Amino acid sequence: MQRREWGLPETEAKPGAIRVAHVYPGSYEEAMASLGYMTIFSKLNEAEDIVAHRFVLDSPFSLEEGTPLRSYDVIVASIHFDLQIPLLLKYLATQRIPLRKEEREQPLIVGGPATWNPLPLINIADAVSVGDGEDHIADAVRGMLSERKEWTHSNVLNTWVKNKASFARHDLSYRPPAIVTEKSAYGRKSIYVEPSRGCNFGCRFCLIGWTKRPRRDRKLSQILDWITEGLENNGEKVYFFASDILGHPHIPKVLEILGELKIPFSLSSMRYDRLNDEMLDILREGGLRSITVAPEVASTRLKPVINKPIPNEGIVELAGRAKKKGFKSLKLYIMFGVPGEQEEDVNEIIKLVEAIKKTGIQVRVSANPMIPKPHTPMQWAPFAGIDYIKRANKLLEKSVRANTMNPKRAFIQTLISVGDERIGDLLLHAYRDLNYAHWMGAATRLNIDLSKYIRGGRETPWRELIDTGVTDEFLRREWEKIQKGEYTSPCHERCSLCGVCFP
Ligand code: SF4
Repeated sequence: MQRREWGLPETEAKPGAIRVAHVYPGSYEEAMASLGYMTIFSKLNEAEDIVAHRFVLDSPFSLEEGTPLRSYDVIVASIHFDLQIPLLLKYLATQRIPLRKEEREQPLIVGGPATWNPLPLINIADAVSVGDGEDHIADAVRGMLSERKEWTHSNVLNTWVKNKASFARHDLSYRPPAIVTEKSAYGRKSIYVEPSRGCNFGCRFCLIGWTKRPRRDRKLSQILDWITEGLENNGEKVYFFASDILGHPHIPKVLEILGELKIPFSLSSMRYDRLNDEMLDILREGGLRSITVAPEVASTRLKPVINKPIPNEGIVELAGRAKKKGFKSLKLYIMFGVPGEQEEDVNEIIKLVEAIKKTGIQVRVSANPMIPKPHTPMQWAPFAGIDYIKRANKLLEKSVRANTMNPKRAFIQTLISVGDERIGDLLLHAYRDLNYAHWMGAATRLNIDLSKYIRGGRETPWRELIDTGVTDEFLRREWEKIQKGEYTSPCHERCSLCGVCFP
């Protein structure tokens, strides 16, 4: 495959360097759109004594020199979604790399949001890079190679030693090179920019919101350098990735400048309360035809449960303003299965969609089941159940055109998200196929009772292994607020002393 890529770090052989196979368990296009993956890739190659090459699911060989995984000293895998774990295992198996760590010659270091409950990977990975990896990934590679069994770096969890690992937080002084590729998941020749990391709002289901706190904003000069370098590298469009992009103090100005220069841009997220008239004008000027709002729920009873107070009337009013300003569509992100939800709450979503439609704007709905995530207050929440999600999907689809998730996939995702060593065994037996019956058959053969993973109030053993900085007491209080339906203020309004900034 002929690839056109610009701005990649130097990946030539360095004498005596450690050779790292850096795997992204997704397609080439997805990997090139993953800032986390490309940041770690760049950081590894900047080390004098390390050379890292990319591996993606489309190719059995490295993208850099066409060599197989087996020819590398260390494997590093960046895993962003739970269901990428079986994909990674399948890829390794296809390359004849043993999956169990004691059978494998090369150490495997995993990192990324889907590994912060490392228990399902405890017999597979040699170490987990916990939190922001920029500062420690090179040390982790060196350490794993020299002292595989005794590695105890505070930010890298040695799953044999089981010492509690602290979550690493980078100060964002480093930025990766502005790599541009002809093809990537969010369009050709995109420049991917991360203006901030973390989020102030504390939505109770959101893994990133609870593990990447506190919010950190990059300096304006760094963002401008990043964009300029991307344009020099043939970039044609700027894609901003962060949880609350418009909350960055300088981003509105940056977007305005891009609009004036006729450089198109896109945003991975937009908070409803940031979309005033002025901002809508800036977005239109930048070529956007659609806005995105993620209320997750529409019932007023459930809004405090997830700690996301976005009023339905406000969304309808925003839709009307957006329509008048020339936006064609509004995308709505919805979540099913939050604690206390009933089928009548789905009707509230349908009513909201109908009200938005009356403004004349097109509505697109994306509905996903809530997956309980470790280290969040929802870590104790039950999985809503395949039957309930099926009914909710059907009810929604009867009145509204919506993209929905297969509930059986959501079930498997939940097992991985809040699983333990036994789910690790299941992964080792079932990774080849995400078919539900296949997983159930494997669970029966292994005599694993799956009900304990999906019911509420589950054990949270990942808390014994990883310290995110948020205290157990604070998470408990948030869980109680879920039962009572009470809000917690965002960090910028009132610090709730979660434990991260003032331990
Ligand atoms: S300590 Fe306060 S300001 Fe810092 S992340 Fe926690 S709630 Fe937010």
